Amino acid sequence: MLNRTACVEAADSRECHEVKVPDKRGKVIVISGPSGVGKGTLCAEILKRVDDTCLSISATTRERGASEMEGKDYYFLTRETFEARRAGGLFLEWAEVFGNYYGTPKDKLNEMLTTGKSVLLEIDVQGGKQAKAAYPDAIMIFILPPDEHALYTRIQGRGRDSEDSVQVRLSEARAETSVAWDHYEHRVVNDDLEQAVHAIVRIIRAASAAC
Ligand code: 5GP
Repeated sequence: MLNRTACVEAADSRECHEVKVPDKRGKVIVISGPSGVGKGTLCAEILKRVDDTCLSISATTRERGASEMEGKDYYFLTRETFEARRAGGLFLEWAEVFGNYYGTPKDKLNEMLTTGKSVLLEIDVQGGKQAKAAYPDAIMIFILPPDEHALYTRIQGRGRDSEDSVQVRLSEARAETSVAWDHYEHRVVNDDLEQAVHAIVRIIRAASAAC
């Protein structure tokens, strides 16, 4: 650890003060994949197994689910608030997904990276491309289902979507997967959870050791 002056971007101000700064900045790790592919479960396992890794909490305008908590699952914002923050440049990336806005708050991400932590961004492909443009050394991992039927069963099994909405998510999954081929250097099939977690942990360790 070095004693250095670090500038921390807060939501509404920029403060500079003396803090302990690690020799190495953390890495941005982008995890994308179709809705229902199991990204949330995989991210939870990665957080347990890879030291100094934390999760970026996104902002969204979608409605909060019954089991979801403000500030833990998402920051739930009105469209007006989201648009104002977007206009203020407060998001690293943002996208409209299934009719709702989603975005990664810049201030929290910068804070975590500055303290040497790597940060998992569980975001869609549009956001992944923006994150890679801002952080060219970001580790880009795309999660694939074993096959489309497995994805259908998982989305339907969550009980959150009507049949129409399941079909929309499936067609979105096809589109995302074809675009992802160009932008994600790592692809992991989530058939067996343990194997998928192992593969992702190996990718993160190798990419972190390489720099
Ligand atoms: P859900 O509403 O099911 O939680 O998320 C819907 C989609 O939005 C998922 O594909 C998820 O990865 C994506 N998403 C969640 N947070 C963000 C974000 O901050 N930025 C972007 N671009 N996509 C996000």
